[in-house]
Amino acid sequence: MQNTDIPNLLELQKIENKIHERNHNIESHKKRIDYINIQIDKRKELLSKNEEDLETQKTELKHKEKMLFNLEEKKKKSDEHYKMAKSQAQVEALEKELKDLTPSIENLENEILELLDGIDECEIKIKDGQNFLKGSKETKEEIEKEVNEDIYDDEHAISVFQKKEDTYLELLSSEAKGLFEGLKKRYKSTEFITNIENGKCKGCFYMLPSHLVESIYRGINIECCPSCQRILTPGLD
Ligand SMILES: [Zn+2]
Repeated sequence: MQNTDIPNLLELQKIENKIHERNHNIESHKKRIDYINIQIDKRKELLSKNEEDLETQKTELKHKEKMLFNLEEKKKKSDEHYKMAKSQAQVEALEKELKDLTPSIENLENEILELLDGIDECEIKIKDGQNFLKGSKETKEEIEKEVNEDIYDDEHAISVFQKKEDTYLELLSSEAKGLFEGLKKRYKSTEFITNIENGKCKGCFYMLPSHLVESIYRGINIECCPSCQRILTPGLD
């Protein structure tokens, strides 16, 4: 008498493959959200760095503007003293002071201009970052909605497959049921039934003893590969 478990086990493998595929889909859907979250976190980090840079530059600008103001005041006073200088020594001392002050003022002015440019750049970057985050919030919400719908569909399909699986499981002998449960775990639901190809197990290419091959073709008992333990069938169609 032909073994009735084999066709049912083959059906179960087909169902398990479909469940496996759906679970894989669910993982991919979740990865879409993970990817967006990573991008958002990166931009948030960049934004707060830009904001810190802006504060630093603004503080530095204030400091340098104050320094410039003091130097200009000093120069004004030296100019006045210079006009009223009485002795040659006084004139020379003031000339030296003014000569030293001028490049310091020029340097400071250049540094202030550079800082102002830096501040402008920073402000543009901050605006960009804020716009990105605002846009990505909407995009994330849209994608989340889409992803949740996709996950719902896949989960629904899985529950349908599981019900179908239960009906096949009820038809199995206890031996076949035990084999199915064990192999399902071991092979993570995929390829736990395989067939013979040129006298070898197609799952692991183990050369099967001829008496085993004969028994598989007779199809009376459930036979497993001595090497990988997969259930063996003559063909998978
Ligand atoms: Zn094998």
